[in-house]
Amino acid sequence: MTFAFGHLIGAWILGKIYEKVASKRLSHLTWGFLLLGSILPDADFMIDWILGTNLHRTFSHSFLFVVVTGLLVYVFAKHFTKEPKKIGIAISAGISMHLFLDYFSVLGIALFWPYQLYFSPFGNMYQPVLKGLTFGTLEELKLAMKLAVVDMGLGTLWVGYLWFRKRIRF
Ligand SMILES: [Zn+2]
Repeated sequence: MTFAFGHLIGAWILGKIYEKVASKRLSHLTWGFLLLGSILPDADFMIDWILGTNLHRTFSHSFLFVVVTGLLVYVFAKHFTKEPKKIGIAISAGISMHLFLDYFSVLGIALFWPYQLYFSPFGNMYQPVLKGLTFGTLEELKLAMKLAVVDMGLGTLWVGYLWFRKRIRF
């Protein structure tokens, strides 16, 4: 289970690798959409908490979401930027990185949603009823809590590193 900072760092590493390999710098806007894409799939938590649904890791963690979101952003971005293609690809790449990291969990991801097979290195399975953060046993919640603390630590180290390299100013 990866939380916000883990996903942001994953997309940041992806962007850095791209910059190194392609010998190009990503624009400020492209970075924004890459990082946004890396956390966007977990916005389904908000839907679940507000509406009381159980949608976590369904449509927003699928190949369909990668494609549709990229296309929508591309079409929309045509009206306000000269690089709509880059921005569409950036958000799709961010979402793909999110799915890649979530794949390495027991729950896995329903990559071909609405098809209900969840892919995971620990074994693929059909899971019609999902356990979001607000469901599950006390032990599962305790584990999620510990992983959230690890995520905060990672985030602190990341921001600390960026500060140290003078990449961010306050
Ligand atoms: Zn996720």
